Amino acid sequence: MSRIPLIAGNWKMNKTVAEAEQFIQALLPKLYATDGADVALCVPYLDLEAMVDSTRGSRVEVYAQNMHEAPNGAYTGEISAAMLTEIDVHGAVLGHSERRQYFGETDKALALKVPAALDAGLKVILCVGETEEERENGETERRLRHQVQEGLEKLDTDRLGEVVIAYEPVWAIGTGLTATPEQAQDALSFVRALVADRSKEQAARTRILYGGSMNAENAAELLALPDCDGGLIGGASLDPAKFVPIVEAAV
Ligand code: PEP
Repeated sequence: MSRIPLIAGNWKMNKTVAEAEQFIQALLPKLYATDGADVALCVPYLDLEAMVDSTRGSRVEVYAQNMHEAPNGAYTGEISAAMLTEIDVHGAVLGHSERRQYFGETDKALALKVPAALDAGLKVILCVGETEEERENGETERRLRHQVQEGLEKLDTDRLGEVVIAYEPVWAIGTGLTATPEQAQDALSFVRALVADRSKEQAARTRILYGGSMNAENAAELLALPDCDGGLIGGASLDPAKFVPIVEAAV
């Protein structure tokens, strides 16, 4: 089954609305030759509305970087799915390692967030990945199994293929260290096999991304891996001149 590649930028806590506008005005004209890949930008909450407006009619979809699982309630500082869909946000990246590491994001909460987002009409990128210590201790597969199985636990089997899974080794995020093609392919195919344990058909539909210091130089090799359906890009997504070549490498 052919899966359309997805290149998603994760801006993290970068870019004011004015900076985001500048970025998008520079990016859109450069994307003309990149039909064949889906493009998304995961931006800070306060940038969402302006980015949705500025990208309307273009191929760029706009994602939030988190979302609360409850429809509303006493959760100070949180944002619900309905608040995102009301302003036409397309999706949310959930379970990024920085949310897990610094903000106590748990697999249990993610198990609720994933169906809540899909039910509201949002697309989902679910992030998984092992730490350096887990890799050194031979615990990569155990960690991935836990994160994938628990994160997707409450999702109906026939909806599994709607979720994009981003395999992001924590030791490669923002470090300039990239997984070797062998390491990446092993982990990506392992993640697909975990989905296949529930449904082979859904596993064949599921887009699995690599993330971790992907850049214009290494993108083509990583994106050519049999189980790599795109990339989640942090640092290199902040500058159109660095981001566009990665999109070009995907088509
Ligand atoms: C990320 O933020 O998900 C990421 C992969 O960052 P970087 O590309 O900077 O490693």
